[in-house]
Amino acid sequence: MNDLPRQRNVENQAEGAPFAPVVMKFGGTSVQDAAALRRVSKLVKRRLELRPVLVISALAKVTDQLLSAGKLAAQGNEESAKGILQTLKQRHEHLVAELITGEEAAELAAFLQDEFQVAEKLLHSIATEGEISPRAQDHLLGLGESFSSRVAAVALRQLGLDTVFVDAKQCIITDAVHTQATPLWDDTNERLQEKVGPLVKAGQIPVLGGFMGSTRDGIPTTLGRGGSDYSAAILGAGLQACRIEIWTDVDGIMTTDPRLCPDARRVPRMNFQEAAELAYFGAKVLHPATLLPAKRRNIPVWVLNSKNPESNGTEIVADTDASGRVKAVTAKRGISVVDVEPVRWLAPELLREIFEVFEKHHHGLDLLSASPNSMSLLVSTTAGLPVIAEELKGLAHLRWENHKALVSLVGEKIRRRPEIASQVFSSVADIEMRMICQGASERNISFLVDEAQAEEAVRRLHKLFFSVQETQPEVVPFQGLCQAGGPWQS
Ligand code: ADP
Ligand code: ASP
Ligand code: MG
Repeated sequence: MNDLPRQRNVENQAEGAPFAPVVMKFGGTSVQDAAALRRVSKLVKRRLELRPVLVISALAKVTDQLLSAGKLAAQGNEESAKGILQTLKQRHEHLVAELITGEEAAELAAFLQDEFQVAEKLLHSIATEGEISPRAQDHLLGLGESFSSRVAAVALRQLGLDTVFVDAKQCIITDAVHTQATPLWDDTNERLQEKVGPLVKAGQIPVLGGFMGSTRDGIPTTLGRGGSDYSAAILGAGLQACRIEIWTDVDGIMTTDPRLCPDARRVPRMNFQEAAELAYFGAKVLHPATLLPAKRRNIPVWVLNSKNPESNGTEIVADTDASGRVKAVTAKRGISVVDVEPVRWLAPELLREIFEVFEKHHHGLDLLSASPNSMSLLVSTTAGLPVIAEELKGLAHLRWENHKALVSLVGEKIRRRPEIASQVFSSVADIEMRMICQGASERNISFLVDEAQAEEAVRRLHKLFFSVQETQPEVVPFQGLCQAGGPWQS
């Protein structure tokens, strides 16, 4: 297992500052069954000196199953929805039976009984409403982490660790943007100092569920899918951790998703911005917002494999080499491209108005390219577009096309090497591109393709940069920050 930053911890102690703990986040597969939780206990024992704080995801696939149950209930199929809940209950009970004995086992059984009753009631009200509101969805999905973190806290205690369960909803205080909440930093940091800090100081191991938080009024929220990574970073920043460890099921950040290219290699080091862009442009290994709090406090983030702890993982820090090398390739699916054609011309006031309307409807924008007479926006959901189009009527026409994917290469300063872009575009020359963007940053080159072509594009680019020895490419002049165009096919 990689070297520990003993120095920083000891320094903090000497200054009389609170201990700088290590935040260890364990993803769904890392806590999925009894064997996985036994591995977690071993990993945490190796970190005791650093005062671990644990963040636990829902058991593998549980969040998806809760979501399916919610959707079934909304469609009026309450019985099937409850069937899913029943299976989930049995899975957690089985875990308790395998790992926990005595009074604590009975207490946990009672806890699960109560929580599953809450879940059933929630499904019933979703069925009555005939829809799953964002607020109900947050309540339902957060239950996955609520179950897993309670069980993990007790199981790890019985495996010999001095763990204490802490309710994340009492610590991570967020705005009310359900399904994509953002922490209210002052409130959250205060709560963390109040509820988690003293436990760390006393040498205990706080265990919190990831992904969830609550509003100031106590209404459950979630941080977006994959949000337990973000929880870990929020805790890391609030507790001034010496490091944040994301324990998952791969050896670190890889040159691409190993499910797509089994020959993907571990990236030993990245900087915060590279990792953030990779996550933002689709690499599921990290929630896109994870790196922000870590970067702000300059806390190193490690991505490590809970099944292979001897691998060195990926270290994400402030500065790494900026040799202009491509570090990884990724693809973000489910993208839609929105073409905005102004009735007159694309004046700055119109741009402002367009952005204001998108913002008003909480509609995120991924990328944009503009020419004097039109503008193309990339969005991850089209749900709000009809209303937005209606509001912009008279100013601009909107039309959109779905099922696109944004393929991206990430690496510090890759834009300073024009030969990289020319190499990329010649290797995918026969794949139709809708829009080419060398991102606003110097570390990203992206282009839009039909979703069905994305995997092929990633495989080719991965082969180009990582499977064969990198050769100096033939230099073809490449210009322009963004090009938009190509025929509409819808
Ligand atoms: P966890 O449950 O531990 O949070 P996730 O499934 O959210 O794990 O993220 C890990 C997965 O991310 C890997 O199994 C892998 O398939 C996928 N992944 C996508 N892109 C990358 C990448 N560049 N490097 C590593 N893993 C990646
Ligand atoms: N369980 C949540 C999800 O699947 C959060 C996470 O695992 O990070 O999205
Ligand atoms: Mg994840």
